[in-house]
Amino acid sequence: MRTVIIGGGVLGLTLAYDLARQGVDVDVIDARRPGLGASEVNAGWVVPAEAAPVPGPGLIAKSLKWMVRRDSPLYIRPSLQPSHVRFMVSMWRRCNARDFRRGFQAHLALAETTNEILDDYARNGVVFDSYEQGLLMAFAHRPHLEHHLGDLDIPTSFGLDPQVLIGDEIQQVEPGLRAGLGGGIYFPGERHLDAASLTTGLRARCIELGVTMTADTPIDAVERLGERVLAVRSGDRRIAADMFVVAAGAWTGRITAMFGVPLPIRAGKGYSLDLTPAPVQVRTALNLSDAKVAMTPYAGRLRLSGTMEFAGHDEKVNQTRVQAILRAPTNYFDDYVAPSHAPQARAGMRPMTPDGMPVIGLLPGTDNSYVSSGHGMLGITLGPGTSLALAELMLGTARPTQLLPFTPDRFVRRPRPMPALARSGAHR
Ligand SMILES: Cc1cc2nc3c(=O)[nH]c(=O)nc-3n(C[C@H](O)[C@H](O)[C@H](O)COP(=O)(O)OP(=O)(O)OC[C@H]3O[C@@H](n4cnc5c(N)ncnc54)[C@H](O)[C@@H]3O)c2cc1C
Repeated sequence: MRTVIIGGGVLGLTLAYDLARQGVDVDVIDARRPGLGASEVNAGWVVPAEAAPVPGPGLIAKSLKWMVRRDSPLYIRPSLQPSHVRFMVSMWRRCNARDFRRGFQAHLALAETTNEILDDYARNGVVFDSYEQGLLMAFAHRPHLEHHLGDLDIPTSFGLDPQVLIGDEIQQVEPGLRAGLGGGIYFPGERHLDAASLTTGLRARCIELGVTMTADTPIDAVERLGERVLAVRSGDRRIAADMFVVAAGAWTGRITAMFGVPLPIRAGKGYSLDLTPAPVQVRTALNLSDAKVAMTPYAGRLRLSGTMEFAGHDEKVNQTRVQAILRAPTNYFDDYVAPSHAPQARAGMRPMTPDGMPVIGLLPGTDNSYVSSGHGMLGITLGPGTSLALAELMLGTARPTQLLPFTPDRFVRRPRPMPALARSGAHR
């Protein structure tokens, strides 16, 4: 059974690995090179404890405040384009406690086995760097810490064991943090990875298992007969298969539109940059929670990441926001000095959905095409569980009920009737 996966980010590669291990003949097709983009530049955190959906109580007020600051962690480019307005209104409607708690629980169920799956990858020849010192959410201001305590029952019910640290107790976990901070929440069971090593390791192991990796091949047309997709095309090249999966990150909506299902997935741009050598000693995956900046310690270097920009698909780097990321640790560390010559930041496009939850499952109106995308800020955390469950669904080896909240059906009233050959851009 031949399967084509469109997109070679962490979602495409983990699925390719799971299918190939079951003996499926897999071709991963990428517009660039599999493993680049968001899947390489991210903070590498595997943090179910932070797996809350983006829309949450208080986000509307916060985003309005941030809109007027050029260096804020959130930017929404003003636009009257109907799809943009629909997306934002739909997101704001989800900014309530009920949807937030439901989404958080659904994410936690999907991430419940992530650590076991990652260990299984390592046992089965996927080589990647993993660090297991837990996650610390640090708060400069006590009210910000208190705001987070209300929802701790959710990760606790999934066995994540949050430890609340008041004021300087936080230094027991990260001794380098300055005295006088508001406090923190420590999750000892969380881990972080070198994201580039994970995609490189998966790619190499997939190739050993017989997966074909096709680079520089943007899919721009879909050929079908009724509900059956026969082939995808890139220019003159035709690629036929029995099953298709769209895992094209922030570009997924454009591609699923060619399958008759224009999913509302938009790009949420973020930046990361590596400071070598590390300017301060950090042990854990450290969330500077008030500033919305992630610090990830690796051997000999420190990665800083942050920012969420809803501003289309261009990967240009906004230096004002990068400078804000670089300055953020000064409020948390006495010893940190922002480098005067900043290293080059890289941008990654997070695939965002209006309800902040991934879209995983059979594409409505087709009988052999699937989608796995919309993982937003959580592709590394949710990717391994997503792909294992989706492989089971595709091969009919199990009924993964944890995927039910993520069905693509929630965004589709009726699939569009499609011509035999649907091209990119023709179905907006
Ligand atoms: C700064 C930053 C920090 C982050 N930190 C974390 C973190 O700590 N933990 C966490 O869990 N998540 C984190 N994330 C989120 C995570 O990186 C993403 O959710 C994840 O990488 C999405 O993976 P993907 O495979 O869906 O998309 P991508 O990695 O974007 O891959 C999609 C692929 O599809 C390809 N493609 C696009 N169009 C086409 C086409 N027409 N034909 C063929 N191929 C196509 C692209 O070239 C790309 O390679 C972070 C993201 C950013 C930006």
